[in-house]
Amino acid sequence: MLYKILDQRDYEVFLKNLIADYELIGPKKKDGGVHDFTRIKDFSEIDTDYKRTILPPAKKILFPSVEKLIDYKVGDKIEFKPAIESSEKILFGVSAWDINGMNFMDKVFTTDYVDENYISKRRKLIVIGMDASPSETNFSMSMGSEYAKEGFDLYITKIKSGYFIKVATAPGNQILGKYSGAEDATVESFKEYDKYMDSYKKKFKLLPDIKSFYYDFEMIYEKEDFWKQIAKDCYSCGSCNLVCPTCFCFNVKDEIELNLKEGTRTREWNSCMMPEYGLVAGGHNFRPGKENRLQQRYRCKLKTFYDKFGAYSCVGCGRCIEACLAKINIAEDMNSVKKQLISN
Ligand code: SF4
Ligand code: SF4
Repeated sequence: MLYKILDQRDYEVFLKNLIADYELIGPKKKDGGVHDFTRIKDFSEIDTDYKRTILPPAKKILFPSVEKLIDYKVGDKIEFKPAIESSEKILFGVSAWDINGMNFMDKVFTTDYVDENYISKRRKLIVIGMDASPSETNFSMSMGSEYAKEGFDLYITKIKSGYFIKVATAPGNQILGKYSGAEDATVESFKEYDKYMDSYKKKFKLLPDIKSFYYDFEMIYEKEDFWKQIAKDCYSCGSCNLVCPTCFCFNVKDEIELNLKEGTRTREWNSCMMPEYGLVAGGHNFRPGKENRLQQRYRCKLKTFYDKFGAYSCVGCGRCIEACLAKINIAEDMNSVKKQLISN
C-alpha cells in the first residue's frame, strides 16, 4: 500500500481528468434529495456528502437487476452465444461498507463457480472508495465493515489539509500518477488521518451487540414463536433483498420468439422473502410462512456465509431497515435474540 496526498485543487483536476477519459460512476443528488450512483459528465455533478443511496452502487453495475445471459437458436441443433457485456468503468466515492458488500459478492461469484458475466465486469472496474457518513440505520461498525481493507484501487479520506489517499493496486497508482500531482503522504498527514479516523468511528451510533451472535443464533433458530413475533408485520414484498448489497439470488427466464427458432435467456433479481421462492414442482412450498422466510434470510446473512467465508454476509448498511414498510429492523432483531435468550 502506498500513501499519497492531494490538495483541493489537485483533487478537482484529478476528477475532471478521470471524467474526461473514463466512464465515471459517482454519487449525485437527485430530485427529492436522494443520492444515486450514476454516470458523471461534469465535476459539479458529484456530491460525496451522502449518507445512503437506495441501491448499492457496485451491485447495480456488476450484477444488474435484469441481465441477458445468452442468445440461442433452435434448429437441427441448438446454437447459443453467451451475452457477456463489460466495459471499463470507474466507480468513484463508494463507502467502506459498500466496498465490503462488493467483496462478498466477489467471493460468491467466483467460489465454486466463476460467473463470467459478473467477473468480466468486475475485472474492468476501477474502484475509488471514499469515507461516507453513516445514516442513523447504519450499523456497519458492529459488522466490522466501517473500514475497507481490500477491494479498492484507491481509497480517499478527506482530512483537514487535503485528501489522504491509499493506493492499493497498480491501476490505481497509474491513474493517480497520470491524472494528478499527488505527493507522498507526510508525517503530518498521517497524524491528521489518525485523528480523522477517531472521529469517524464516533459517527456510528447504531451498535447491535454481535459478540456471541453466531452461537446465540443457533439457540434461537428452532424457537418458532420468536420468528412468528418478529415476522408478524412482514408483507413479503422482497424490498429488503433488492436493496441489499450482498443479496445475490436470481431467477433465470427463457424468452423464445414467436417463430420458436430463437430466443434469449436472462436472469433477474429474486427474493427469498417472497412466497414463490420456496415453491417447487408439485405445489410444495419449503418456506410457506413469512416467519420461515425471515428465519432463512437472517440465517443466510448471519450464519451460512460465516461458516463458508468466515464473515457475516451482512455489512450493516441499513438499507433493508430503510426500505421496509413494516419497520422490520435487522439490527433490533439481532439485539432481540440476545434479550430472548436472557429472558428464557
Ligand atoms: S441485510 Fe440489510 S443491513 Fe445487512 S447488508 Fe443487507 S441491506 Fe444492509
Ligand atoms: S421484511 Fe420488510 S422489506 Fe422485507 S419482505 Fe418483509 S415487509 Fe418487505
